[in-house]
Amino acid sequence: MDTAIYEKLIYEKSDSGRRAHILPAHGVPPTGGREIAIESLLPKQYVRSKKLALPEVSELEAVRHFVRLSQLNHSIDTGFYPLGSCTMKYNPKINDAMAALEGFRELHPSQPEDQIQGALELMWNLQEAIATIVGLPAVTLQPAAGAHGELTGLLIIKAYFEAKGDKKRRKVIVPDTAHGTNPATAAMAGFEVVEIKSKENGHIDPKELKRVLGDDVAAIMLTNPNTLGLFEEEIQEIQRLMHEAGGLLYYDGANLNAIMGLVAPGVMGFDVCHLNLHKTFSTPHGGGGPGGCAVAVRADLEKFLPCPVVSRDQDRFYFDHDRPHSIGKVKGFYGNFGILVRAYAFILAHGGNGLTQVSRDAILSANYLKENLRRNFHLPYDQPCMHEFVISGIWQKERGVTTMNMAKRMLDYGVHSPTVYFPLVVPESMMIEPTETESKQTLDEFIEIMQTIDKETKEQPDMVRNAPHTTPVKKLDEALAARKPNLRWQPE
Ligand SMILES: *Cc1c(COP(=O)(O)O)cnc(C)c1O
Repeated sequence: MDTAIYEKLIYEKSDSGRRAHILPAHGVPPTGGREIAIESLLPKQYVRSKKLALPEVSELEAVRHFVRLSQLNHSIDTGFYPLGSCTMKYNPKINDAMAALEGFRELHPSQPEDQIQGALELMWNLQEAIATIVGLPAVTLQPAAGAHGELTGLLIIKAYFEAKGDKKRRKVIVPDTAHGTNPATAAMAGFEVVEIKSKENGHIDPKELKRVLGDDVAAIMLTNPNTLGLFEEEIQEIQRLMHEAGGLLYYDGANLNAIMGLVAPGVMGFDVCHLNLHKTFSTPHGGGGPGGCAVAVRADLEKFLPCPVVSRDQDRFYFDHDRPHSIGKVKGFYGNFGILVRAYAFILAHGGNGLTQVSRDAILSANYLKENLRRNFHLPYDQPCMHEFVISGIWQKERGVTTMNMAKRMLDYGVHSPTVYFPLVVPESMMIEPTETESKQTLDEFIEIMQTIDKETKEQPDMVRNAPHTTPVKKLDEALAARKPNLRWQPE
């Protein structure tokens, strides 16, 4: 099957006069009894001189075209998707239905506050729920995604030191297992990034931390569990050292699947944290957005939150713009509201105990896979894991088959690959996050697939090296695809 066939199809099916739509009247009122030609309202340079070459097809042909295209991709609705650090779990469809309720969907962001009390109440309730989950009292829902939340958090930390007149703190510490967005964000917020090496066992080394700590350090960015899926057991000591040195702790809570209801960032001593609402809190993602993010801070940092802040005055909810210490707006209007509705629906549907069960199940699934896969794959950190874990393909590499080859081979079995070659501290790494929503049968099938692929690396290594064989797009020339991407078909 050649994808080009599908792309061309819709143009080749085109026949003049076929329509899949009837446009509504444009709604510009006639003036002086005359209909206005819309083009006359546009500046000349924006008016098309040639008709656009669009395919002319019926509704059925358009539907078939797009449904076929959607089937060319792997998706969570069609197969297992154990992509580590991404929480590709099943997102209940009811959350989409809630976000599509007319009263939410039809809101205009410039509507007066007295007409949007319900939406404001939802945001306020969501802020409260998140504050409880993370153990930090003040929350903003403005950022558009995880990395944007990190930037918001670091700008708050910057504002905190500036308000204290402490100008020396230019450094942000990140461990070598950090998600790539952490050092990138720190640099973007104008800090100098200091990397610290983890210990042999994958954990942060308090001795290394002490070595780089000083009165020029603003913060450390951590995720706990770290990207190896390991819980930093020395977090108490780390937070003591940081706070004694006058620095703050930033928690990357992009994936909260590991800890909800079990331990909170605020309890571990973190001062600022962000959550990706499009991972744990069930917005479908992976297609490039939109996302949503909450940033939570300890009480004395509240005044720096982006404005406006959704606030409550008895029974009335309002946008508080009177925030002289605020870092300012970080997003147009007030974040991606539809994502907030989904997160709120997810939290309400589960309740506190349900969210705790989500984390327990996610941890159980990960440990179950880890203990089964270690028979065929190298397990670099032999410890209980949290919601994800890392194995390595070094044994298979000795047979001339790389982790990338095996990742492609998985597609032939209808499974998306885990995250590969990250974290960087493990060669030939595969970072596997099964999530809580997969059944034991699915996990067992995955174990069997992985065992089969391991066997294939011994018996038919060339076949694995040339995978995938059954997907619409076969093995790509990756250098060519990156340098000269051909992203759209154009009519001749
Ligand atoms: C996904 C992720 C991020 C970035 O989130 P985006 O919404 O993609 O910007 C940051 N940190 C960790 C640990 C993540 O898994």
